[in-house]
Amino acid sequence: MPQPGFDVLVIGAGPAGSAAAITAARGGLRVALLDKAAFPREKLCGGGVTARAHAYARDVFGDLPEALFHVSRAVRFSSGGQTLGQLDPAPPIYMTMRLGFDAELRARAIAAGAVDLCGQRLVDCAPEAGRVTLAGGESLTAPLVIGADGVHSGVARALFGRAQDVASIGFALEAEVPGGPGPVTDLDLTALPWGYGWDFPKPQGRTLGIGGIAVQDKDLRPRFHDWLRARGVDPASVKIKGHHLPSGASRAVPGRGAVLLAGDAAGLVDPITGEGIAWAILSGRLAAEAAAEALRAGAPRSALARYQARMEPIRAELSRARFLAQVVYHPLLQPRLLRALAGSDHLQRRYLALLAGEMDYADLGLRRMAGVVWRVLRGHGARSP
Ligand SMILES: Cc1cc2nc3c(=O)[nH]c(=O)nc-3n(C[C@H](O)[C@H](O)[C@H](O)COP(=O)(O)OP(=O)(O)OC[C@H]3O[C@@H](n4cnc5c(N)ncnc54)[C@H](O)[C@@H]3O)c2cc1C
Repeated sequence: MPQPGFDVLVIGAGPAGSAAAITAARGGLRVALLDKAAFPREKLCGGGVTARAHAYARDVFGDLPEALFHVSRAVRFSSGGQTLGQLDPAPPIYMTMRLGFDAELRARAIAAGAVDLCGQRLVDCAPEAGRVTLAGGESLTAPLVIGADGVHSGVARALFGRAQDVASIGFALEAEVPGGPGPVTDLDLTALPWGYGWDFPKPQGRTLGIGGIAVQDKDLRPRFHDWLRARGVDPASVKIKGHHLPSGASRAVPGRGAVLLAGDAAGLVDPITGEGIAWAILSGRLAAEAAAEALRAGAPRSALARYQARMEPIRAELSRARFLAQVVYHPLLQPRLLRALAGSDHLQRRYLALLAGEMDYADLGLRRMAGVVWRVLRGHGARSP
């Protein structure tokens, strides 16, 4: 079937792609939203929507149905089954299942006017021509393409030869445990070196997972089985799945030629917390705004520079996280940091404010971060409230 001419092709209808598509459509652009999956589709994810992500989602998509979320207001920090501290009430984390969450965002993008091309796989992308080729052999061309096709992005591969170096990015295993939501969000800070474990309460059960930086499936599986057993879950009774996270792998130039990359395709996952939904939504929106501005100026090829400038605060924030990850997960420093965390309600609240997206790394300040580490190393702990 012949397709109408498009101003922008958005590849991938996860949070990044749907945010790009709805922003472009509302900005008056003719936009196609393409995904290899028909929706609703599963996406392996803890589904922890932070206050930051929730606010970005509301800004871009409008108020979302409350039924999509279980709002967690109690958090336990633990280490190998021992409680380090518990905050109740804690800043809210909106726990969701990506099956319903992503379907809702995509539906809103289509309702805003994006043309629905879901159920079609991209197999190639010519960045200079702004052309994508689909599995059926059909090609689509537009002045601009937004690649939001996830961590193993085919668009990024076409641009840079590979999407990510899978040996150096994050990896996580997860299992859904049906039943009622657990009473608290549990963060096991020593579930594995250079990572952590999570037990997230959900509307219809719990999501349990462990993940970290530069680990692989084969290293993690036996550890995850033991971790599940320690929580009373028989690993044989649940379906265990693994997926990469492009943590700390953000690209200095998020695209090439007529192509802008957003979300996981651009490497926008926090290496400490694993948060990616907020950055996916924000980068998708910024990519579409840059595209609209460039097209209005009659200079589509200026979109990448405009997008890169808008992305600078995100890039800087994730660089700070990358620096801090080397400190908080360092095997020599972590035991002392955990002792300090266990003894300080103030530190627990600061840490949770970061995790829950109520505070940025920029708010900590590099000098202040160095001060906390220095005090901890000298055994003075952290300031109490
Ligand atoms: C185990 C795990 C737990 C996580 N937990 C959290 C969490 O609790 N909170 C949080 O904020 N983040 C979490 N993340 C990160 C978060 O899942 C991602 O950062 C987020 O999904 C990125 O959104 P996206 O739109 O960029 O990509 P995705 O959500 O991956 O969407 C990409 C889309 O592109 C489509 N696609 C891929 N290839 C093609 C192709 N060739 N052609 C067409 N379409 C294609 C896919 O079908 C998919 O729909 C977690 C990640 C993992 C792996």
